[in-house]
Amino acid sequence: MDSGIFIANPNAPTGIYLTLPQIEEIVKSNKDNIVIIDEAYIDFASDESAASLIDKYDNLLVVQTFSKSRCLAGMRLGFAFGNENLIQGLKNIKYSFNSYTINRLSILAGIEAIKDEKYFKDTVSKIIKTRENTKKELKLLGFNVLDSKSNFLFVSHKNVFAEDIYLKLKDNGILVRYFKSDIINNYIRVTIGTDEEMSTFIENIKQIVSN
Ligand SMILES: *Cc1c(COP(=O)(O)O)cnc(C)c1O
Repeated sequence: MDSGIFIANPNAPTGIYLTLPQIEEIVKSNKDNIVIIDEAYIDFASDESAASLIDKYDNLLVVQTFSKSRCLAGMRLGFAFGNENLIQGLKNIKYSFNSYTINRLSILAGIEAIKDEKYFKDTVSKIIKTRENTKKELKLLGFNVLDSKSNFLFVSHKNVFAEDIYLKLKDNGILVRYFKSDIINNYIRVTIGTDEEMSTFIENIKQIVSN
């Protein structure tokens, strides 16, 4: 194997989702590389995980986390799907110089989170619904909204510069992410909160873009 290829799908910070055939094409045409698909946001995409491809490709490793859709940020809990060799490679590291040991309470919390299918489905579908509503509202206010399949939106306004929006929101106690790097410096990343939080956000945005 040569070096690794690392792709977040859905991507961050754009939220854009590559379909399973698109992912398969990348895995297939890079047989000499380990392709790692980081599916931290896959549950918000309501689409198929690349985990379904692991029996077909021995260079594919799919990783997910409990930090987003499972609401356990800070637990440092995640999991990986891959063929036996790749998983053995992970185990070799884990059992020699593992610097991210997982405590027993976190493991128990993870097991309970997996068991609680109803809570998981409810929270994920609430976020998706709020995300789609927020998309619509922002478009009406003159934003270009990338078609995010994650739990955040990456948006750019036709008149008001992203950094100004970011700073004005911050003055009002609303924090969004602003990245100063070249090609994305006219975008802000907005994490989806509760309906109430998002309507406060939209009210603030209305003021900012109409002035
Ligand atoms: C949150 C996130 C992870 C995983 O975070 P942990 O808290 O370390 O499990 C991985 N990739 C992306 C793109 C993320 O946003």
